[in-house]
Amino acid sequence: MVRRSRPAAPWRGGWYLPARPMHSPNHGERPAGAVVDLIVVHSISLPPGEYGGTAVHQLFTNRLDWDAHPYFRQIRGLEVSAHFFIARGGQLWQFVDTDRRAWHAGRSHYRGRDACNDDSIGVELEGLEGQEFEEAQYRALTGLCTALSGRYPIRYIAGHEHIAPYRKNDPGPGFEWRRMRSAFAGSGIVFPPAAQP
Ligand SMILES: [Zn+2]
Repeated sequence: MVRRSRPAAPWRGGWYLPARPMHSPNHGERPAGAVVDLIVVHSISLPPGEYGGTAVHQLFTNRLDWDAHPYFRQIRGLEVSAHFFIARGGQLWQFVDTDRRAWHAGRSHYRGRDACNDDSIGVELEGLEGQEFEEAQYRALTGLCTALSGRYPIRYIAGHEHIAPYRKNDPGPGFEWRRMRSAFAGSGIVFPPAAQP
């Protein structure tokens, strides 16, 4: 048997070492036997459409000042998280151990299963539904999905809009699924059906 040398896995437990860690208190146990086979792509910016700030980081760590902007009052008290956040320049943060359940999907259903938080990884892209995303974000997302596939039996990558279609529209029509399809062509990963022309 030939042993192929492999690069060291860039993980410490469920923490991806190339990401900057910022611990969110918003997480829980995954159900026993959960098979993490889905990556959920989201978009977020706070206030919506304003990029480069730290409000998303503050939201995910329960440190957002709800009175700092009129929009924040609409989401006052919200306790959410995603495992990862990718800023416009491709900078990557991790908020929750991927072996833990993050709070990004809400009521959801995909590949025949409910409650997608139980067995998915949530990745937020800094952005706005309907707007385009940056090249650097696609690069970071592709690298992250590849690394996640090395640690989990990832079979599906979908948007929040696909797992909660009556409630959510992110990442929206500005997200180019064809880039992901071509990056993972031949991998066996299943993407949402292409939108009708
Ligand atoms: Zn979302």
